[in-house]
Amino acid sequence: MTGPVRPVPWRYVASWSCTACGLCCRAYSVVLNYPEWLNIVKQFGVEYTSCDLSRLYLKRKTDGSCVFLYRFGNRWLCGLQNMKPRACKLWPFKIYSKPRFGRAHEAFYQYAGSKLFVYVDPNCSGIMWGIPTKRFVHEVLPEFIAISLGKHVSQRFSTGRLKVYPSVLV
Ligand code: SF4
Ligand code: SF4
Repeated sequence: MTGPVRPVPWRYVASWSCTACGLCCRAYSVVLNYPEWLNIVKQFGVEYTSCDLSRLYLKRKTDGSCVFLYRFGNRWLCGLQNMKPRACKLWPFKIYSKPRFGRAHEAFYQYAGSKLFVYVDPNCSGIMWGIPTKRFVHEVLPEFIAISLGKHVSQRFSTGRLKVYPSVLV
């Protein structure tokens, strides 16, 4: 992957489905909020996290990948699953109350009376570009938005379909 790219408004996305390529779990540091950090420390130990002067993170391996990322055949899966940090659940979507990356008309999304602006990181290989499908507009995006607003939703459309738990992590 090259350097940071500008997020794209959701109106260019036909749909999204995680291909388990693992790119997002290798290329980015995952910031944790305090409750997420505490849950991970209680279940796995503080050595699965790291910090700098202002933020808490998931630990990365020496190759830069997340400590919970593991390989399953030709896929890359997450060992945290239901404990996934919010930042991971939301990737590759970015949801704001202001059009932070411009193109407000194309990023606008009305959600339960709230005016939101939704973008996607084009580095994700799970994005299918094109005219948004009904499923994407009415099922996939609302689930990501609900997560971003802190609602407790079970992830049906906003996560990969293949779930295999590594015995070392459970
Ligand atoms: S969310 Fe996107 S980048 Fe991350 S593993 Fe799935 S397809 Fe790959
Ligand atoms: S917690 Fe899971 S989804 Fe998040 S970076 Fe680590 S392996 Fe990827």
